[in-house]
Amino acid sequence: MNIVDIINKKRLGNELSYEEINYFVMEYINKNIEDYQISSLLMAICLNGMSEEEIFNLTEVMLNSGEKIDLSTIPGIKVDKHSTGGVGDKTTLILLPLIASCGVIAPKMSGRGLGFTGGTIDKLESIPGFKTNLTEEEFINTVKKVGCSIVSQTGNLVPADKKLYALRDVTGTVESLPLIASSIMSKKLASGADKIVIDLKVGNGALMKNLSDAKKLASIMVSIGKKYNKETVCLLTDMNQPLGNAIGNSLEVKEAIDVLNNKGPKDIRSLIIVLGTIMTSMGLGISFEEANKLVLNNLENGKAFEKFKEMISEQGGDLEKLEVSDTVVSIKSKTTGFIKKIHTNELGEIVRKLGGGRYKKEDNIDPKVGMVLSVKQGDYILEDEEIVKVYVGNKDYLVNEILDCFEIDNTSGQIEPLVYELIK
Ligand code: URA
Repeated sequence: MNIVDIINKKRLGNELSYEEINYFVMEYINKNIEDYQISSLLMAICLNGMSEEEIFNLTEVMLNSGEKIDLSTIPGIKVDKHSTGGVGDKTTLILLPLIASCGVIAPKMSGRGLGFTGGTIDKLESIPGFKTNLTEEEFINTVKKVGCSIVSQTGNLVPADKKLYALRDVTGTVESLPLIASSIMSKKLASGADKIVIDLKVGNGALMKNLSDAKKLASIMVSIGKKYNKETVCLLTDMNQPLGNAIGNSLEVKEAIDVLNNKGPKDIRSLIIVLGTIMTSMGLGISFEEANKLVLNNLENGKAFEKFKEMISEQGGDLEKLEVSDTVVSIKSKTTGFIKKIHTNELGEIVRKLGGGRYKKEDNIDPKVGMVLSVKQGDYILEDEEIVKVYVGNKDYLVNEILDCFEIDNTSGQIEPLVYELIK
């Protein structure tokens, strides 16, 4: 078997066997295949897709590429959550302490930014001192003590995804159904939770641009979960505009804190309540109504925020030291009208350019940069009114490039629902 034959086979749109998939994944991890060869294969997969059988096999091979976490020493049902990523998506930061405050056991391994989308680990690392690289033992002990913990992948968990994810980020091969499904599900299965909830983002700021592709991805992930006897639920949610107002690492942590204090933008708050209700219902085996009551109460009575502070301090973080850039530029609209469309992925790209994301695997990010939107889709804006605040670091940015992300018109255009569908 050799990698060039495998690349050619996929380039021609043929199906790879289990052995071929196992060969390219394992030989890549063992450094017997070069980055440029895998990049080429990933691009062929992006362009030609994979059959259901290939996706199952790729997931299985990735899952077996490293260790699996054993959470059985933690009593109770463990519920894990994953978002396919979007712009301004700080859901995990809020949701985990929220459901933990309701009594759900919530261990979570998260990733870094991918393409134009931000990553929970980068966001958390903007809190000085916060440790995301706990050992498995530290992770389990934190979950036992606090009820939740968010870490980067511990130990040797799905090393195949670690390498492929970083390579995809810089080779334009992120937006591919088979690659996303196998990446997410191999990690979820290896992370050891009993139940899995996936927040699958759809829209111009998501990896999945349209509902029909998103439904296909959801069904395949749910069937992979079932194959391994894990209850898996996929919620299709809108990402045609940033979630909340803040984009950029520290800024998003600040907004997450607002939501945990029962404030914050309406959209992110509503999504948290829906996801929190589903996860609490699954984790505690109670009805949606009961779970919803618990979630709303704990946002109101401060228990969710207390749990967040407990998790942050348990993992060494100092919230007092969280900083955003003090160079803030207010960008004003050049016209009057309705915000008809927001080019969400481009806003994500601009934050990446400001230093909030990476172009090369080894790039450092600047946690203090980003932007806060002053408008959402459907809002009416006057000429010279503020459209966005930009938090600038040491990189240049272009005002017109930012303004071009907002389409302003005489009509407000179609506003999509926040939640499209639940697939299980
Ligand atoms: N999230 C992941 O973990 N993997 C992907 O490929 C995309 C989003």
